[in-house]
Amino acid sequence: MTTHEQQEQQEQDVKLFFSSHLLEWYHGQKRDLPWRRHRNPYYIWISEIMLQQTRVDTVIPYFNRFIERFPTVESLADAPEEEVLKCWEGLGYYSRARNLQHAARQVKELYGGQVPDDRDAVFGLKGVGPYTAGAILSIAFNRPEPAVDGNVMRVLSRYFLLEDDIAKGPTRVKMERLAAELIPEGEASYFNQALMELGALVCTPKSPRCLPCPVMEHCAARLAGCETSLPVKTKAKPPRPEERLAALVTGSGEHAGRVLIRQRPQSGLLARMWELPHWPAPPAEGGAAGALLPEAAALDRLRRSLRQAGIFARPEGHWTAAEHTFSHIVWTLQVYTCREEDAPALPLAAEARASYAAAGAAEPPVELFEGGSGHPEDGGAVRWINREDMESYAFPNVFLKLLNRYFDEAEQQES
Ligand code: SF4
Repeated sequence: MTTHEQQEQQEQDVKLFFSSHLLEWYHGQKRDLPWRRHRNPYYIWISEIMLQQTRVDTVIPYFNRFIERFPTVESLADAPEEEVLKCWEGLGYYSRARNLQHAARQVKELYGGQVPDDRDAVFGLKGVGPYTAGAILSIAFNRPEPAVDGNVMRVLSRYFLLEDDIAKGPTRVKMERLAAELIPEGEASYFNQALMELGALVCTPKSPRCLPCPVMEHCAARLAGCETSLPVKTKAKPPRPEERLAALVTGSGEHAGRVLIRQRPQSGLLARMWELPHWPAPPAEGGAAGALLPEAAALDRLRRSLRQAGIFARPEGHWTAAEHTFSHIVWTLQVYTCREEDAPALPLAAEARASYAAAGAAEPPVELFEGGSGHPEDGGAVRWINREDMESYAFPNVFLKLLNRYFDEAEQQES
């Protein structure tokens, strides 16, 4: 055997060792997860979409509720979008839920409600990328397709000591090729799950547990002592911070005990979900990013924005601050309590004008919230709700928490 052949044989042995030991370990150690109890492609699909950016422990109750409410592709396809979003409420990344429902309608119309086992068909479903397609095809149908996400790339980078940047597209392609080669014949379903399980339980991002790891013996990063410095990943651009002023408008008269919410526009960020009204905060003194606007100026600004949106309310004071992080943006919401008035809001306070003057800033024009005309048909619908009504509307996490907190505090004050 030539040196080259010997080297190739060694590489092959290392791969075989990895696949066989990993599979054996998985059969003894795998977690009992609800979507693993059947090979139902619909369940696997739902779980994989929910698991994107979300931890298993968080997903389990959501998955159980979702499957109970939408047990089949058809039931999901036929449901009102509001109900699907309500079931997703708290999981975040709501476009996942919308895409899922869109794809369920595709499956119903094109494939008679059966999740297809054909590669092109699965790839054609909305919201299904290479990882999810690979997971559905391999886990549900035992097709030898790789399912490579960040977890899997971490394990492969370490075991094979690969220093390619996993944030780059060509690295993913290379990893997919490698992962496909590693799948033992007829074992795609278990093998892919085993790889994911190792990344989740043992070969974790910060402190890999190498001692009990089933593949430690041939792990190149471990042998070289560099497991914690892999994988190589260039940092994504941090999300852009955006300061916003939000209004917690409490009702009076016929709206007493209720809070005003509005619907977001028909498309774009968090489309059609419900929230407290909020607007971008003008720059603070000297235009410094991140600096807080003087309270009087913030109250003035909110009053103008509310008035422009047709809401008569008097901002009273700062209540709390809250954050909502998207992949590209972080909202910091400064939330002000406001009281409903039955007459147009008061004219600008001299105090507020002085704040703008002191900051050397012009009084800003009032803006409508982005993309909404204020007409119910175009988003921008408003409702007065009490705690029970919250069940009928889907809220992004941050507003769900704020509303729950407000109603908790109101109840405590009453008792
Ligand atoms: S030995 Fe350590 S670094 Fe290598 S695969 Fe196992 S847990 Fe990861």
